Amino acid sequence: MNDSTLAIGVLLPEVLGTYGDTGNALVLAERARRRGIDATIVRVGLSDPIPHGLDLYTLGGGEDAAQAVAADKLGSDPGLVRALDADRPLLAICASLQILGHWYRDASGERVSGLGALDITTSPRGARIIGELVIDPLIDGLDDPLTGFENHGGATTLGPGARPLGRVLSGVGNGAPEGPGDGAVPVDGVVQGPIIATYMHGPVLARNPHLADLLLSRAVGADLAPLDVPGVAALRAERLAAAQRP
Ligand code: GLN
Repeated sequence: MNDSTLAIGVLLPEVLGTYGDTGNALVLAERARRRGIDATIVRVGLSDPIPHGLDLYTLGGGEDAAQAVAADKLGSDPGLVRALDADRPLLAICASLQILGHWYRDASGERVSGLGALDITTSPRGARIIGELVIDPLIDGLDDPLTGFENHGGATTLGPGARPLGRVLSGVGNGAPEGPGDGAVPVDGVVQGPIIATYMHGPVLARNPHLADLLLSRAVGADLAPLDVPGVAALRAERLAAAQRP
């Protein structure tokens, strides 16, 4: 953190706000404030330069045409890459997960260059995936399951530089199993350097405050006091149960 106010970026909400993922920044700001940490949300539009000095960045999902506009902007403005080079944490959802890879193919088969910040590629998987997604996290600092809503046509394959965020318990996730031969398991998301990326909408941080707190603790550089928000446990229980229903 540069000064006493935590600056949380919401990048390109005009094109990456389709699935309500801008709510992730609201959750981050509110969970910081309830702990006495000043927080401000910085909305960065398509015509704005992307600042490289924010404390924490969020990127959302979008449909193919909007996603291409976002890929163009993120590839031509050096701000986000500079921020990642400086290890600023970034949460990326769905379309932006795909943009952060080497390249992705959209539903029409067109190949779009990505930022190469994640060692992944994405191609259409055939049938679109729409439904609940639950994963068992595979990274340090996260124990409880993550729940979200997925809606995507792309399947993402990880290269050796990237790790999955979690093992799929219900739903599809990346759509390309990871691991050796017969031992390959379905996974969701990508973790590499300061980036945590997932196919989960929801917004994912409203459903999973423990993931919000992991990002916040990285941004402030300290462990955070526990914070209980009434209703969250009931919401999580309801969504986990919903994922079990046929
Ligand atoms: N357009 C991408 C896909 O369908 C991403 C969709 C999304 O962000 N939900 O795979």
